[in-house]
Amino acid sequence: MAEPAAGTRQETRRPATPARHRGRRVLLLLLTLAVVLAAAVGVAAWLREDGEPGSPAPAANSEPATTAPAAAPSPAPTPPPTPTFDRAQLSTTDPASSWVVVNKARPLSPIDFAPTDLVPVGNGYQLRAEAAQAMDAMLAAAAAQGLQVGVQSAYRSYDYQVALFSAQVSRFGEAQAEVQVARPGYSEHQTGLAADVGGGGCDIESCFATTAEGQWVAAHAAEFGWLVRYPEGRQDVTGFKYEPWHVRYVGVPLATEMQRTGASTMEEFFGLPAAPGYPG
Ligand SMILES: [Zn+2]
Repeated sequence: MAEPAAGTRQETRRPATPARHRGRRVLLLLLTLAVVLAAAVGVAAWLREDGEPGSPAPAANSEPATTAPAAAPSPAPTPPPTPTFDRAQLSTTDPASSWVVVNKARPLSPIDFAPTDLVPVGNGYQLRAEAAQAMDAMLAAAAAQGLQVGVQSAYRSYDYQVALFSAQVSRFGEAQAEVQVARPGYSEHQTGLAADVGGGGCDIESCFATTAEGQWVAAHAAEFGWLVRYPEGRQDVTGFKYEPWHVRYVGVPLATEMQRTGASTMEEFFGLPAAPGYPG
């Protein structure tokens, strides 16, 4: 009984079991499919995400690239000397300004300008008060180093320049005179801010550059507000050959700023046209 019962159970179970089993299998298969599908979607999404970080990576690369140039201009404002120096602080055209730029294209205006604060500066010469004080300080500092630097020329009036220029013309001819002496109204000496210095056995000659005195002046003039106004090799800009003896007072801030920026002439520093000769 047990056998047929088991047999019938088996018989009835057998067809029933595969049917149930098939149902379960289908369910399992569906579930597996669902799981696989979900996994596939997940992987696809993950891949997409993984791909995206790939493209944001160059974006992240380009971002530091944009931050780098953004960081590069920031060091430019960082050094305070540049922004704090105002190149328009003083006039370059007013003959009474210590920054006035006088050259063969920029005569004094008025042409017979005369400063009102001239004081003695040694050897019978005169400079404007501020320049005279700066000259005294420079000569004293040179003397402290055992170097005797003296003033060989300083303020020259319009009338004096007229006489000097015509004397040079009658002696050497006009072409040569214009190389050696400025036309009246075109000389820095008329501002009361320029001087010729000498020492070491060389006065107002190119040999001054080779003396210890001349080399000291070239190295230290800016500390006292002076420029060697006609540097070597800049005749195309200044209109004058190298004059190691001719110094021009502009004040310590401008002289040291020009030194710091490497500008060898006032024309270059202020962005003014070169003045190799007289116009016309
Ligand atoms: Zn001079």
